[in-house]
This record gives sequence, C-alpha cells and structure tokens, in this order.
Amino acid sequence: MSEVMNDTVIPLAYLFAAACFILALKWLSHPTTARRGVRVGEIGMAVAILSTLFKFEIVEYQWIAVALVLGAILGIPLGLVPMTAVPQRTALSHAFSALAAGVVGTAEYYLRKPDLDATTMIALGLEVVLGFLTFTGSLIAAGKLQGIVRDRPWIYRGQNIVNLAVFASALTMVGLLVADPGRAVLFPIIIAVSLVFGFMLVIRIGGADMPTVISLLNSYAGLSASMMGFVLDNRLLIIAGALDGSSGFVLSIIMCRAMNRSFTNVLFGGFGAEETVGAIEQRPVRTVDPEETAFLLDMARTVVIIPGYGMAAAQAQHKVRELTDALLRRGVDVKFAIHPVAGRMPGHMNVLLAEANVPYDLLYDLESINPELPQTDVVLVVGANDVVNPAARTDQHSPIYGMPILDADQAASVIVVKRSMRSGFAGVDNELFYLDKTQMLFGDAKAVIGQVVDELSKLPAKEVAGR
Ligand code: NDP
Repeated sequence: MSEVMNDTVIPLAYLFAAACFILALKWLSHPTTARRGVRVGEIGMAVAILSTLFKFEIVEYQWIAVALVLGAILGIPLGLVPMTAVPQRTALSHAFSALAAGVVGTAEYYLRKPDLDATTMIALGLEVVLGFLTFTGSLIAAGKLQGIVRDRPWIYRGQNIVNLAVFASALTMVGLLVADPGRAVLFPIIIAVSLVFGFMLVIRIGGADMPTVISLLNSYAGLSASMMGFVLDNRLLIIAGALDGSSGFVLSIIMCRAMNRSFTNVLFGGFGAEETVGAIEQRPVRTVDPEETAFLLDMARTVVIIPGYGMAAAQAQHKVRELTDALLRRGVDVKFAIHPVAGRMPGHMNVLLAEANVPYDLLYDLESINPELPQTDVVLVVGANDVVNPAARTDQHSPIYGMPILDADQAASVIVVKRSMRSGFAGVDNELFYLDKTQMLFGDAKAVIGQVVDELSKLPAKEVAGR
C-alpha cells in the first residue's frame, strides 16, 4: 500500500500540483484572471503539502504537527496585514522560505557529509548560500519598507568590489567542499559569509530601487528551494522552486527595464552610485481647496489621475472611483496613468483600483499615457511622488535619475493630493510641486477626494453630449 502511495499516487499528486503552479503563474499575469490564479495556486500548494505528508520516509508526525501549528500561528496574522504592509510581508515570506531552505541544507550536510557526491554538494552549497543571503537580505528589505531600517542607500567607495569578493569567497568555499565534503570547518563559515553578503547586498539599496531587489530576492529564494529539491530528490520542489526563481528573475528584468537600471548592477547590489539625497527645501507652493478642485476638474475636457503610494496608505481607492464616476457622468474624459513601481509592490495600483471596480479599460501604462499628457487639461496626482518627479529626467545627481516617470509636468495643469511637503520613498524633493501650473491639495487622500466628490455633487447639472 505504502509503495503504491510513494510510486504512483504521490508522483501523480505532484504532477497535478506542478500543473496548478504553472497555470497559477499564467493566470496571475493578468488582472482579469489573477483571482483564479491565486485559487489554483492555493489548490496546488494544498495538494503538494498533503501528498508529501503521506511519504513513507516520514516516521513520526509530532514534530511536523508542531511545525504546522507554529507556522500557522505566525502565518495567519501575517496574512491579515493591511494592503499597505504587503510588500514588507512579502519580504518576510521570502526571508522565512529562504531560511527554511538554508536550514534544511545545513541539516542534510551534517547528516550526509561523508557520502555527498559532487553534484549533490554543488546543489547543497548553492542552496545554503542563496538561502542564507536571501534570509538577511529580505530581513533588511522588510525593515527598510517598514521604516525600521534607514531607507537611504548606504554607500562607500569600492563597495561593488567588496561585495563581489565576499560572494566569490562563499562560492570558493563551496568549491572546496565539492572537492572534499569532509572539510566541515568550512560549512559554518559559508553560512556566516552568506548572511553577511545578504546584508551588504540590500543595505545599500535605497529609494526607488527597492522593488527590483524584492523581486530578485524572490528569485533567489525560489532558486534555493529548487536546489533543495535536488538535494532531497524531490521533483515538486525542483519544479516549484524553478518556477518561483525564473518568474522572479523575469520580473526583475522587466522592472530593471521599467526603471532603466542595469541588471548586472542589481545582481550584485550595485545600485545608486551616489548618495545625493538632500534636505527638502521650504519653498512656497500654490494651494487649492476641494471646492476649487471640483470646479477645475469639472471644467476640464480630459483628466488623468495618477495614483501612488499615498492612495494605498489612505485607502482612497473607493473615493477615487466615486470621483471618476462623477466626472464621467459630467462628460469629462477620465483616464488612469499607472507607473510600474507606483505604491510598494508590483501591480499595487492595479490591485487597489480593481478592488474598487475601476474599469480596467481606463487604466493606461506609462508608455501609452505619456504621449497623451501634453494634451491633458488636468493631471490629478493622488498620493504619488517619486513616479512623477521630473528629477528622474533632468537631474543626473538624483538617486532616481534614469527611472522612467509619468510626465505629469507636461499637462496644462496639475493638482497634487498629499498631506505635506514630505518626500516620497526615495527621499528626494520634487520640482513638480513648485511649478506655476501645479496646485497642492493638502490632506489625507481619502478625506480630500471625498470632499471633492461632495463639492462636485453640488455643482449645477451639466448638458452632456451623447446622453
Ligand atoms: P512615493 O512613496 O514616492 O510617495 C507617496 C506620497 O504619498 C508621499 O510623498 C506622501 O506624502 C503621500 N502620502 C502618504 N500617505 C498619504 C495619505 N494618507 N494621503 C495622501 N497622501 C499620502 O510613492 P510613489 O507611488 O510615487 O512611488 C513609489 C516609490 O516606492 C518609488 O520610489 C518606488 O521605487 C518605491 N517602491 C516601490 C515598490 C513597488 O514594487 N511598487 C516596492 C518598494 C518601493 P505626505 O507624507 O506629504 O502625505
């Protein structure tokens, strides 16, 4: 019976789970099918875990039960964090999965070290290096996103060379273990060097480069799990880890392109060559109130809304939807401009706007909306900052220089909703706020957009063509 289970039922269950993971990735790549993608991914994971529990190598269940309970105690509150904390939660998930791979690799090494063949030792070495570096790297990333660790880049001369040397020394020690797995003294040093490298890799990441590094850490965690699959001879782990690793890798490349960053620099932590973040100047700006804003929006033919992290923080997406509906009813042409790294996670704005049922066909990506902005009457920036900062185009010394931005400054007029003159994630001042064409609507995004909606409803009815 247990042989049928091990040789037939479990491999079939693994095949089913692998198919679920592939379908999940395919469906997750589009907002209209993303929910289905999540469900099928969950089914695949449940089947994978349950079928593994029937493996005949398992002799005792009590420690597995303890681990499941502990995992659930940690996992349930992590799953309930607000949307704005999802990026740091994701970074923590990468940290835990990478730690698991690193710890399993360590246990396997000490259990099997005299009998490890070269291939297994290579896989085990990579698993441990990637696992432990991803662990500290992801913890630092989560700390930066949560505001516990300073989010400015930490940079010194020759940093790339030091980083490369640290990484190369870890790989050299793995090479020595492949030649002779019995050199057990090297193993804890590999772990320590990998932990230090993960720290050094991410501590220097600042401002706008965080999204790319998070998807890269995702990729490293997946590759580590895949290597663990080779070590444990578990095909599902190989497949799931490879899917995770390669999709994270592809996402990193896409984000590098979107951010105009060099991929090789990202791989070794070579972000942002200079630390140039300065103090935010206290200069006069023009302000506007909700009543005037409603009037200006109502007078416009075309309005482009640019949402950013502040919309997520304020949970203003439903009010933004109400505003959109009111403007559309009054004959205003409304579009949304979505920057690939707006918010704090890939697709953050798409998720929020979908949650508020903003029609998907109103959403435009950076390449398609930028050419339209010079003909736009009003750009309404809702809690965005870095993604509309013209310094990315004009100031070579800015940490965000080279990142493609939404050209809000090209529109006829700009209204910016935020609470203060504080900077965004990259910690740099934004020239857009000081332009003559820009007016600041200060306040919490949910509250002020709600007031604008109220003011719009007080305006006299309008004759709308085609109704
Ligand atoms: P920013 O972080 O640049 O700016 C957000 C702005 O929102 C702030 O200036 C803040 O100003 C304002 N804000 C905060 N809370 C509120 C509120 N309740 N109501 C109104 N406004 C509010 O956001 P962007 O979306 O423009 O840019 C994203 C940044 O995050 C980029 O630098 C990106 O690289 C980085 N990042 C992105 C990730 C991703 O995957 N998308 C992951 C990690 C980082 P004030 O305090 O004055 O209100």
